[in-house]
Amino acid sequence: MVRFTVLASGSKGNSTVVTGGKTRILVDAGLSCRELFRRMKLADEDPATLDAIIVTHEHSDHVAGLAVTARKLGIPVYFTEPTHRAWVRWLSPRKQMTYAQWLEQCRQQAAARMAEADAPSADDCDPEEIEILADLTAKQEDGSATDSTPAQKKKKKSEVERDPTALPAVHYFQAGKPLQIGDISVSPFTIPHDATDPVGFVFQAEGVRMALATDLGYIPPNVKAQLKSVDLLLLESNHDLEMLRDGPYPWSVKQRVLSRVGHLSNEACATYLEAEYDGQATYIVLGHLSESNNLPELARISAERALNGRASLLANRLLLAPQDEPLTSICF
Ligand SMILES: [Zn+2]
Ligand SMILES: [Zn+2]
Repeated sequence: MVRFTVLASGSKGNSTVVTGGKTRILVDAGLSCRELFRRMKLADEDPATLDAIIVTHEHSDHVAGLAVTARKLGIPVYFTEPTHRAWVRWLSPRKQMTYAQWLEQCRQQAAARMAEADAPSADDCDPEEIEILADLTAKQEDGSATDSTPAQKKKKKSEVERDPTALPAVHYFQAGKPLQIGDISVSPFTIPHDATDPVGFVFQAEGVRMALATDLGYIPPNVKAQLKSVDLLLLESNHDLEMLRDGPYPWSVKQRVLSRVGHLSNEACATYLEAEYDGQATYIVLGHLSESNNLPELARISAERALNGRASLLANRLLLAPQDEPLTSICF
């Protein structure tokens, strides 16, 4: 069984379930956990059977529900190391302080704890969340995280309260180095986007190849190479150039979207489909459409025009991934 279910696509949240063999991966978790579960139910996907979450980059429309979802399901999260660090920083806003101020804060916290009956240990001041993550990861790996005496539950809960970045387990991958998650082979590749270490993916299972490439300012040669011979292509068609230019965004934001590390326009998507795309995909899914600077019909017409010139491509099915509801599962 190979299945691809887009739960949401766009600047208000992105998430997709990829199923191959007995393995199911959630790609990005850009909606709240509650909303992700609701949409999975709508799409006939069971959250309890997810094996892992893999993250493209740390922008909030891709990670908003990540920690809660991973903790609720007790499943590992795959990041590149720079993306993981960026995500931890994003969730750990900390004002700058001098060493003396930090020591003073520790003293005050210790005094406050002594005033309470059940004071926790003195390591509350440890600024290294990574240690807590490693601690939780180790527990998960040796199986002890599954024990659940009330005292341990309380300790785990307090760790989470203290550290919103705590995850059941963290695994690192690198762009350009394929990895295996259960029955699914994953090829991560670098994309040009204004995040720390953003990636797209090609997923392969049972001989079916599915590519996911959104959040990219343009399509460089390394991405073109990855998009060859895929059965499913989820490609960004973010904005219509004229709508963006005349649209409501401030000039600086327009410049960011248009830049080489911004988002792919309908026009750039069409140029790729017309001139470079190899016509192999059974399904082309247009994704990450802007609500302010695009219309689904404009994105569709632009891509259709690009494909229609090529008779050999008539077998391709063109779909649009919506923001507010799941796209019907694509099965192979
Ligand atoms: Zn995005
Ligand atoms: Zn992004």
